[in-house]
Amino acid sequence: MDKCSVCGHPMQEKGYATQVYRREGVVVTVAGIPAVRVCSCCQNAVLDWEIAQQVEDLVKPFFAKREPRLLPAPVVTIVFPSLEEAGV
Ligand SMILES: [Zn+2]
Repeated sequence: MDKCSVCGHPMQEKGYATQVYRREGVVVTVAGIPAVRVCSCCQNAVLDWEIAQQVEDLVKPFFAKREPRLLPAPVVTIVFPSLEEAGV
């Protein structure tokens, strides 16, 4: 079994990850990302490369520059339903 690269705890095969992206005050939390491996101890997750790319594309517009700044930087939460719930 693979060990977590962060805390050394054995990692669980398959699970759901929560990733937090921060840039210039904007905070985007993405929950329910299907992960290859998840550490139950520190929540460190290993994502499939294509899934990681899709999540990056999803959050990118939230970090686009808004001029003029009429609103404060938003705090965004994106939650994916589990694959079972979504029937994927
Ligand atoms: Zn860990």
